[in-house]
Order: sequence, then C-alpha cells, then structure tokens
Amino acid sequence: MGYKCLAKDKFSELVEKFTKEQDVFAPIAQGLEVKWSLIDDPSKILFDFKNTSMSPKGLFFPQTECLFEFNNNKDAEDAFILKETSPLVKKRTLLNIRPCDARAFSILDKVFMKDEDSLDVYWKDKRDKTILIGLACTNPCSTCFCTQVNSSPFGEDGLDVLMIDLGDKVVLKDVTDKGEEILKGLEDASDEDIKKVEELKKEAESKINANLSMDNILSREVLEVYEDPFWDRLYETCLNCGACTFYCPTCHCFDIQDETKGDYGRRVRNWDTCMSWLFTQHASGHNPRGTKKHRVRQRFMHKFKYMPIKLDGDIGCVGCGRCIQVCPVNIDVRDVIKNMNK
Ligand code: SF4
Ligand code: SF4
Repeated sequence: MGYKCLAKDKFSELVEKFTKEQDVFAPIAQGLEVKWSLIDDPSKILFDFKNTSMSPKGLFFPQTECLFEFNNNKDAEDAFILKETSPLVKKRTLLNIRPCDARAFSILDKVFMKDEDSLDVYWKDKRDKTILIGLACTNPCSTCFCTQVNSSPFGEDGLDVLMIDLGDKVVLKDVTDKGEEILKGLEDASDEDIKKVEELKKEAESKINANLSMDNILSREVLEVYEDPFWDRLYETCLNCGACTFYCPTCHCFDIQDETKGDYGRRVRNWDTCMSWLFTQHASGHNPRGTKKHRVRQRFMHKFKYMPIKLDGDIGCVGCGRCIQVCPVNIDVRDVIKNMNK
C-alpha cells in the first residue's frame, strides 16, 4: 500500500484505458446539478464540486429493478417458470466518488450481504463488478458532518483507491488489492506530495463544525429513546414527502410488486420510504406506524438505534448532509441527533 502520483493531463489517458474494457461512471455537470453519468468524454468529469445531487446508490440499488420475469399464460409451455434477469455484462468503475458515499456502500453490504442465507444476488453482482475510485473532499459543505459519524473527508472505507486533487496532479492511494493492481506502473508520490495530502486532510476535517455525540443514543435502552417526549414535537412540521429518504445514500427500504401485461409478467422492486403512510400497512388495514409521529420516529430510530444494534455498531448515516439540503421544512438531522442524545 502506498501513494502514487499522476499528472492531471495524463488522467484522461487513464480513464480512456478503463473505458475500453468497462463502463465508467463519474460526476458531471447537468444544468445546475452534479449528476452521476456514464462517461464517453473524460473531459466532462468534475473534480471541483461539492457532491452529487443524488448519491450513486441507484447504480447498485436502482429505483426500479426487475428481479425476474414470467409467462402468465397458464397454457404456455413455460407457464409461471421464473426467468432470471441478466447480471451485469460489463465491469464498471465509479470515478470521483466521495468518501461518504463509498462508506454508505460498505454499510449497505452488511444489509444486503450479511450472510449466505439472505444474500442479495442483485446487489452482490454489481458490487463484485465495480471498482470505486474516490475523490477526497477538500472543501466540505456547511451541511457535511462525516467526521461525527465515524468517517472523514479523506475516509477510505468502501474504496479501492483514494485520490487527492493537488491541482496540476493527483495523488492516488491504493486501499484494496484491486486498487493496487490499478495503480501498478504509476510513479511514486514524493514526500512533499504526501505532506501536502496530510495538510489538506487536517484542513478539510477542521472545516466540519458539527459537534455531535451519540453516546446516550447508543448506550440507552431502545424504549428509553423511543418513548422520549421530544418526538411529540419533532414530527409536526414534517410533510412526509420522503425526499430525505430517497436522497439518502444509506436508506434502502424497498417494496416488491408483480406487474403483468397480457401474458407477460415481471416482479420488480421499487424504492420505498418509511415516510409513506402505506409503508407498513398490513393486509388487514391495520398499520403499526399509522401516524406521522410513528413514521418520523422510525426514520431516525432505524438509522441511529436499530441499525447499530443489527450492524455491529454501524450507524445508518454517513453525514453527507443531503437530507438537510433537500428537506422543504428544514428538519436538520444534526438537531435530531442532539435531541435524541439529550
Ligand atoms: S441521514 Fe441525511 S446526512 Fe445521514 S447519510 Fe442520510 S442523507 Fe446523508
Ligand atoms: S424531507 Fe423533510 S418534510 Fe420531507 S419527509 Fe423528510 S423530514 Fe419530512
């Protein structure tokens, strides 16, 4: 493991090498937004951006995904035989992914690939075939708080390579064996470059102002946090629009439906949201989370209490700040964490 160095004007050559054998996705400008896109022209890849509007979650867990297809005609030879959907044809690389978004994938690995019995083959196929090359965040947004949730603007968790932009060149650090293989042949970074990386890291971390503690949330009994009176006020302004959950890189709830047209049938899974009143409605009509208070509480209890219990202490939040930016009524997850902890 070590630091390598590449001049910026050689970066396109590296990308072109990738695109010959793989699909390459990276953040590009689209109107006023920065979006993940399949790259056909390396010059469009952004280095100077805050973060993408949506996280790259959809490249592994699409908003709508066909799980299998079937023939719905009972007289057909292949009636009701389930036909698997194809795995990814090509390998892929995600370039310039932010460390918070890469960390979200390693948290979701524990959900979708916890053990053999519950392995999600759709998630695994995409994870196995994708390389993640991260871009360290030298200028975090005012809404970022990754350092408060076990990460850093220079975090390496979930990445194969961490890249640091030094202006006219990039420094690249291999994190996994896959990463080491990619960086083979590049020249070593100088001591001066590595010193600059350390300085940039310290500077970026110091720009994150949040000062959050989760000691009480994590150590207290579930019911103590669940029954706290502060939930009685928090939910009032929420519109249950669900934007926070769709933008969140770690929210992963889905709903499965069969869709048919004539003889054709397919089973799809779609993103769901705990903000929807239908989310936990039973067939009987009873809904154990039938009020807005229940739904709002569920979102935060899931992230900060239930997930750490189930995922060896991992919190269901990477501090990307997207939910703060998109909430139309200014519900700020940092305030919620403070209140929960209090
Ligand atoms: S809860 Fe908010 S800050 Fe945390 S990962 Fe999700 S969108 Fe980002
Ligand atoms: S974005 Fe805001 S208003 Fe919409 S569901 Fe989330 S917390 Fe509620």
